[in-house]
Parts: sequence; C-alpha cells; structure tokens
Amino acid sequence: MSYLLNGEKSEWEVVIGLEVHAQITAKSKLFSGAAAEFGAEPNSQVSLVDAALPGMLPVINQFCIEQAVKTGLGLKAKINLHSIFERKNYFYPDLPQGYQISQFQKPIVGEGILTLDMPDGLRKIGIERLHIEQDAGKSLHDQDPKRTFIDLNRSGIALMEIVSKPDLRSPQEAGEYVKKLRMILRYLGTCDGNMEEGSLRCDANVSVRKVGEKALRTRAEIKNINSIRFVMAAIEHEALRQIGVYDEGGEVIQETRLYDPNKDETRSMRSKEEAHDYRYFPDPDLLPVFLEQEFVDRIQQSLPELPDAKKKRFIDDFGLTPDDVETLLADIEISDFYEKVAGESDPKLSANWVIHELFAILNKDGLNISESPVSAEYLAKLINLIGDKVISGRTAKDVFEIMVKLGSDPMEIVEEKGLKQITNSSEIEAMVDALVKENPGQAEQYKDGNMKVAGWFIGQIMKVSKGKANPQLVGDLLKKKLGN
Ligand code: MN
Repeated sequence: MSYLLNGEKSEWEVVIGLEVHAQITAKSKLFSGAAAEFGAEPNSQVSLVDAALPGMLPVINQFCIEQAVKTGLGLKAKINLHSIFERKNYFYPDLPQGYQISQFQKPIVGEGILTLDMPDGLRKIGIERLHIEQDAGKSLHDQDPKRTFIDLNRSGIALMEIVSKPDLRSPQEAGEYVKKLRMILRYLGTCDGNMEEGSLRCDANVSVRKVGEKALRTRAEIKNINSIRFVMAAIEHEALRQIGVYDEGGEVIQETRLYDPNKDETRSMRSKEEAHDYRYFPDPDLLPVFLEQEFVDRIQQSLPELPDAKKKRFIDDFGLTPDDVETLLADIEISDFYEKVAGESDPKLSANWVIHELFAILNKDGLNISESPVSAEYLAKLINLIGDKVISGRTAKDVFEIMVKLGSDPMEIVEEKGLKQITNSSEIEAMVDALVKENPGQAEQYKDGNMKVAGWFIGQIMKVSKGKANPQLVGDLLKKKLGN
C-alpha cells in the first residue's frame, strides 16, 4: 500500500506503531487506597505509597487487574495467567519512587487484534501487548514564574499501556485506530477515554521506507499526543520530515520527539533510551500475579456487546446504513438510547430522528444524550404517531419542538393543540371543491397535465387545513375531481 503525501502518490510509505496509555477506570489507585478521581485539589489524593515514603509497601488493587484482563479479552488477546511487576528505573521530578512499577518481560496480556473499518475495506491491526503500570505525578509549570510545583494526585493511578504492532500505514489509519480503541475501552468501561483530561494519551513510533522495502528503518517516537487530530498531524509532519532527511542524503536518528500543535512541527526532546537503560528487575515488594483460568472465563462471559458485533446487528436487524451506524455507535449511551427508541417504533425512522432532529437539539444546547429533554419512550411514541397516520411528518416536527421545551407526552400535545391529521375525506373534499371553484385557471392547467399546479393545490390545502390534511388523500381527491 503506498502512502499519499500531501494528497500525491509517493514512492515512500509510512510505518506506524502506537503506544496508548489508558487510565484504568477504578475508584482507587493501582497500589494504594487513595482516590483516583480527576480534578481534585492538588496533592489531596496522595497516600504514603504514592508519595514513596520510606518503608511504604504497594498492595495490588485486584479490580485493576480485572479491568486489564477485560480489556485484553475485548481486544481478542491472549491473557497470560502468569505475569510479573518490574521496576523501571529513571529519575524525574514527578516520579517520587525513582522508578515506575510496570511490567516488562511478562505482561498480563499478549497478542491481540483490532479491526479497522477503512473506506477501502477492513484492516486488521495487531496488538503486541498490554501491560499494567503506574502513572506518574504532574509537574505544574504555570503556578509560579520561577518554580515548578508537583501534584502527586496522578501518581500511582493505574494505567494500561496498549502497544500495537507496526501495522499502521497512514495518519488516517492511526487516527481510526485510536478512535476504535477508545470506543472499545468505553464500551468495556475500563477507561473513560477522555483525552482532554489525559486519561488516554498516545505515543507514535514513526518511520518511513521506500514502497516494497521489507526491513524497517530507524524510527522516531513522538510522545504524549493528546488528541486524535494531533496524532494524525504529528505523524504526517514527522513522516515528511524523515523523507526530507533521506532525500538530502542524511540518516534519521532514533530519538524521542515532541509535537508542537501551535507550530505544527515535531522537535527533538532527547535521544531514545533502550530498554536496558531502565535496569528493569522484578519488584521485590510484589508477588508475581497468578490468575485462575476460571477467573478469566468469568470475565469473558461478562463482556458486553462490543462495537463490531453491535454494528453488524444494527445493519442486519435494523437495515441501517453503515454511516448511520457509525454515528450511533460512537458513544455507548447514544446507541443504548437509539435501541430503546427502535425497540418501540420503526428502526429506520428512529435512526433518522435520533441522528438529525435529536442531535441538532443536543448540539445546539451542548447537551449529552443522558441530558436529552426528550426521552426515548416519548420519541418512540412520536414516531409511532407518524406511522399510524395520526399526524404528518411535518406536524411531527412542530410537536417535537414542543416536546423539547416541555418534555411532555407527544399524544397529549397533539390532542391539546388539535393537531390530529384530517383523514375524513368529506372534510377534505369540501376544501378541494372550494379551492377549485376559486381558482378555475389553475384547475384548467391541472387538467392539461401541469404537475406543478398539482403541487400548488396540495400546498394550498395544507395551508387551509393548517397542515392537518393528509397530503396523500388530497392528491387522490384532486385526481378524482380533475382527472389525471
Ligand atoms: Mn508506559
């Protein structure tokens, strides 16, 4: 597969592997009982373990292990019944222990697969591994003109590092990969995927090679990218930079780079460490982790329906288009809401109403689906009123507007405002007769086969009836009266 650079076919291709750090959704930290919630006062959620005071002893949070196994199973990955926590030694001001407890030789999750639905077909991207580790604290550079402060609230929060194989071949694929991974994590409930709050961060390993080359060339790692748009932009720029280096006869060096979204460029941060620089060794404070197969099986059985399976079901059972499904699946709360509506009314119409009418309202007011002013039950009722020909699609939009304001039952609105469709043909017949009588010219044109005039007649009747006449019935009556 060749890569399009600046929209042009190139002799170069990009090779990308992603490392995603995902904070595990849990009440407490990986090795201590301190709260793991985001947004608290600095240093208000720090235990002795998180501050690395002498003599502290980490204790594994079993729920975090469960969450990691769940994620591994969601990625169709091999679960390692035996895994080990090791110390990764490095110095950094926000890492009070002087090492990070991580997994190296024996991670808890091995190889898996993530499927991407690209415009030109399905792409299976290999997962290399998933391991558990501690998050570091945070350096605050913006609190004081001269000093840097440290907030240890994040210190010790459980992370999953999910490493892909170098299977991605374009910035678009990398963007889709992060989107899909985030969606799976959210469906599983193992990470909230909030990139703005840093619960999901992405490092990209990028190299380039001539199309057809087998071996991988030297890669650079771009650290801590915090939005999907930036992941794509950073890779694009780094790839072009490397191609530029080769074109000028230079060599790419292995290093860690930072992406600067303001300047839209990557720049060197430090030369890349090798694994041996970290002096990994098993953490003597922690026993190896042994899992029972039954424990894993139990989690497997409790897995929710994941996006791929749900997508297939929505297309097969509800006849939705892939685009509609994509929109509905993006968020598990949206797909749940949709399913409630579709369960009580026509699934196709439900998709249209949720995607177009409801989303417009939610977007306008900046609301989540959980804050929707219209309940799934009432939206289904409204759709059924159209299906049962109680109201026209046009009237339904007016009713919907009132529902948004008042949150009330659509049937009550219809009755209260007298919006029921007129399906009594003698009532409509009288209106048609009167209109024909008042407009003999138009009636002649209609008889001559001018279909525009037919539309005009229907429009007039809708006006007279305040939108309550059934348009189909009006059309039939016109034909009966005037021929054609
Ligand atoms: Mn890591």
